[in-house]
Amino acid sequence: MKQDIRNIVILTGAGISAESGLATFRGPEGLWEGHRVEDVCTPEALAHNPALVHRFYDERRARLADVVPNAAHDALAALDRAWTGELLIVTQNVDDLHERAGARRLIHMHGELNSALCAACGNAVAWSVDLPPESRCDACGQPRLRPDIVFFGEMPYQMDRIDVALRAADLFVSIGTSGAVYPAAGFVQTARHAGARTLELNLDPSAGSDYFEESRLGAASLLVPDMVRTLLA
Ligand code: NAD
Ligand code: ZN
Repeated sequence: MKQDIRNIVILTGAGISAESGLATFRGPEGLWEGHRVEDVCTPEALAHNPALVHRFYDERRARLADVVPNAAHDALAALDRAWTGELLIVTQNVDDLHERAGARRLIHMHGELNSALCAACGNAVAWSVDLPPESRCDACGQPRLRPDIVFFGEMPYQMDRIDVALRAADLFVSIGTSGAVYPAAGFVQTARHAGARTLELNLDPSAGSDYFEESRLGAASLLVPDMVRTLLA
């Protein structure tokens, strides 16, 4: 796999954090920590029930203190440190486990639990404690701070930069994502169209498995260190 690979793009999803103890999105019941997606992941939910939405992300943020990166996060951080070519890790996760493992070339395309966004002026600020509704923005003074999470119907972050990286990629790897949420689910096709090799690492066959040249089924904590060893050999 290693030959001729210089530019790598890696997409990660909730599955890479599952072995750290963070529940995946849909889970067996199709819920995120007991909540319907529509109730906690949409602009409408935030408008109609800000208390519930803020509390939901407060709970998710507080939970970060109880978990640590697993062998898959550690392996990607080691790859980031050692890889001399281009590398971009694009995560759909809102947890901070990639950066705590030491990854630096990282984009949180769906936002971050540890950030608050001003709905009035767009200013984002690092935030690690509870975020009550009507918290005030330092930049514009409005009481409009919300969780810095990209809801359904909102534009993910840094799509231009991601697109450039995908089009230049020699290898695209998708790890622990169900391939159900667009635009991330379409990255494999962009990369493949541009000539990249494509590899999926996931516990179960995903909605997008057919688009990948190769799919390996198993736990991220085993498959990711394996892949990184091969790339760095
Ligand atoms: P998803 O929950 O829809 O899918 C997770 C995928 O990971 C599944 O296909 C499952 O088979 C696989 N998986 C589960 N355990 C695994 C393991 N140990 N090793 C490898 N694969 C494993 O997740 P998604 O595709 O990332 O979409 C969910 C959305 O919900 C994301 O956009 C994200 O913002 C949000 N979310 C984030 C977190 C987090 O930050 N940790 C957690 C839940 C949901
Ligand atoms: Zn503001």
